[in-house]
Amino acid sequence: MTPVKEIIGEMTDASPEDKSFVEKAYEFSKKAHEGQKRYSGEPYFIHAAATAKILAEYGMDPTTIAAGLLHDAVEDGRVLREDIEKEFGDELLFIVDGVTKLGTHKYRGAERHAESLRRLLVATASDIRVLIVKLADRFHNMQTLEHVPEHKRRRIALETLEIYAPIADRLGMGKIKRDLEDLAFPYVDPDAATHTAEVRKLKTKETEDGLAKIQKELETELKKKGFATLRTDIRMKGLWSLHQKLKRKRDDISLIHDIAALRIVVPTIEDCYTTLGTVHALFKPLPGEFKDYIAFPKPNGYQSLHTTVVTPNAGIVEIQIRTEEMHRAAQFGIASHMSYKQLGKGIEDLGKDAQKSRFSSLSFSWVRWMIPSLMKVTKKEEGAKGVTKIPAWLTELAEAHSEVAGSKEFVDGLKEDFFSHRVFVFTPKGDVIDLPAASTPIDFAYAIHSDLGDHLQGAKVNGKLVSFDTVLGNGDVVEIIRRDSAHPSVKWLEIVRTALARRHIRTTLEMSDPTKHHPQSRTARKETTHHAKKK
Ligand code: MN
Repeated sequence: MTPVKEIIGEMTDASPEDKSFVEKAYEFSKKAHEGQKRYSGEPYFIHAAATAKILAEYGMDPTTIAAGLLHDAVEDGRVLREDIEKEFGDELLFIVDGVTKLGTHKYRGAERHAESLRRLLVATASDIRVLIVKLADRFHNMQTLEHVPEHKRRRIALETLEIYAPIADRLGMGKIKRDLEDLAFPYVDPDAATHTAEVRKLKTKETEDGLAKIQKELETELKKKGFATLRTDIRMKGLWSLHQKLKRKRDDISLIHDIAALRIVVPTIEDCYTTLGTVHALFKPLPGEFKDYIAFPKPNGYQSLHTTVVTPNAGIVEIQIRTEEMHRAAQFGIASHMSYKQLGKGIEDLGKDAQKSRFSSLSFSWVRWMIPSLMKVTKKEEGAKGVTKIPAWLTELAEAHSEVAGSKEFVDGLKEDFFSHRVFVFTPKGDVIDLPAASTPIDFAYAIHSDLGDHLQGAKVNGKLVSFDTVLGNGDVVEIIRRDSAHPSVKWLEIVRTALARRHIRTTLEMSDPTKHHPQSRTARKETTHHAKKK
């Protein structure tokens, strides 16, 4: 059992009050779960404590850690919601409510899972910590999945692969994404998992010694260049991700160069590029394989330099170069930027802090990519302990799926949203707007401001006038031409991709013609069902 000391030990920046808050939640939860057992036969409380420890490792705030301790306490009715609120506050209760599974009396089977997920998303849309607790909960459940009855394992593993790992990925939480995938893989496709593990093992054996030599050689060379502090390690590709790549390359292992990659962590961004120079001077790079994710971060904020080189000792090797801060961001993603130290600060402060820091351009660029979506957040009222930042795509997701009827459509829709990519487009001033793929200038205008959408006269993409149904691509610079006399048209409803734009267009259309009834509108449809039910 995880002792409370281990959890507290991770809370490096916490005050004595914060620590005793978590201690209190620890004792409270321990009592609540007394006598309860997990499938493994172990005390149930083990799960609560383990979830809290994971959250403490992510650097989450005391409320979130305590919510991890209490996340299953309400479910079986042993603890009253009122008591949690009284003892730990409404913020914590909100997180626990969002994570709590629904009772079986109202929903059954798949319906229940879909409903729980839907509720999780809706709660997440106002406090992202709900989702982070859920990910930690799922992570520990996946570690202990072998004890769960066989008929349930596959469903849980599949849900992990299809919903939770992609969410973690989108939040930039690379470590938990990879762990969730690799824990789920053997339950979803045991044969493929075994095969992939064998392939990886063989390849590792083949290159191990060679890689160690290159690692030494590079370290020596870089130290000669005056790098006092640097760290190198060899990272093995995750099994699920290797499996996906093998499928894409028709099982031809010789086409995959990143099964083992050499990672170099240096202090500053300048050091990253200097290191790249040293690497390319020592080993010939493969043309077309170099990727600068520092200048062009991945949509989820990931940053590093990737290059693939030919070495005499280990053949073709991928080398990843990054700073310590990039390394942390790559592992913990959004959680690394919500860590307790940063909570309570506004977005402006975050940006300023980043500029001041010695890794300035890095953090700034992460903030630059991530924050635009974070800015469209529903901030909790002043006085709440932390500023809760919600990426816009999450809010949209909760909105877009809040009215889907059946559980299957709901889950399918959710999967589609995660697997269909997002595009990042720029305003003329260089702000990034995050939109679902196939979005149009209309979606863009509404994403910036409803007034801009409602008075959209024309749009320029990369300086050229375009039609409203133009599909925006990654990196497009979009300029909106506004005119007071311009108004939305019904046709727009067929063109737009986002729920946000659709809702505004409908509202504006209804307002401009109050006598006309729109049977297609959401509100009208909702009312009809409502009446039908009453009868
Ligand atoms: Mn749980």
